[in-house]
Amino acid sequence: MTAAYVTLVTNDDYALGALALARSLKRVDSDHSLCVMVTREDLALAPLEAEGCKVIRVERLPCSKAFNKRHTRERQHAAAPFTKGTKPAFHDPLDNFCKLRLWELETYERVVFIDADAIVVRDIRKLFSYPEFSAAPNLYETLADMHRLNSGVFVARPSKRTFENMLLALDQPNVFWRRTDQTFLESYFPDWHGLPYTYNALQYIYFNLPDLWRWSSIRVVHYQYEKPWETNHPKLAQLRPLIDLWHAVLEGGDLPEELPPLVMQ
Ligand code: UDP
Ligand code: MN
Repeated sequence: MTAAYVTLVTNDDYALGALALARSLKRVDSDHSLCVMVTREDLALAPLEAEGCKVIRVERLPCSKAFNKRHTRERQHAAAPFTKGTKPAFHDPLDNFCKLRLWELETYERVVFIDADAIVVRDIRKLFSYPEFSAAPNLYETLADMHRLNSGVFVARPSKRTFENMLLALDQPNVFWRRTDQTFLESYFPDWHGLPYTYNALQYIYFNLPDLWRWSSIRVVHYQYEKPWETNHPKLAQLRPLIDLWHAVLEGGDLPEELPPLVMQ
């Protein structure tokens, strides 16, 4: 089966994120390449190419002006404020929808999409034999989180037909996707297959649900909300070991044997 990992990069911040992701993948799977979908060419792409990534230029989705207006950063933050964490200023919600472009990559029978703010710390090749649409729960605070998926890691089967259908379902009059592609994918695939949360361990699990933070079983660490390369954010102290882990991966250092639950001073 032809298969690849895919991520999305629309600015230099996420290009740095994708570089750490690419280096993390190389440690655990040298057989499958990472395709980086980019919306611009004037980005820091050379380091990604040097890591063996395949850069694929994509256009923004051909959505209506009204749709684009409803999903600007300003409108999204006003209509559906984030209460649990902060989104960096470089995060543009409209860009999230470009993830759907991966359905056009028909040269691959399966793709595993991974957000550019995630790193893979253990083998995840098994995911290529999982069906569309598989994703892990949006688990980071309470059991109620299990009802929702997180679109930072998912398994898809590219098909231009699916892509065209998605566009029709996406850009409906007055529809507002409060958590952008994530809310859309949940609605488009209502019977989504659940992956174990260890395939997309959200960083807040570390301090909110420490019983679930068992380092030996975690495969993907996903830095949802605050990013590990931000020099200043409100959760720096709480997330310090995870931030150090991300920098070690970026710099090609060794991974820790253990990443024990955090003891707050
Ligand atoms: N993304 C991007 N530029 C943006 C917003 C998002 O390239 O302005 C891509 C990037 O791959 C990112 C993903 O879309 O990891 C989803 O956004 P993010 O990870 O910031 O959302 P969160 O995981 O915090 O909900
Ligand atoms: Mn993310």
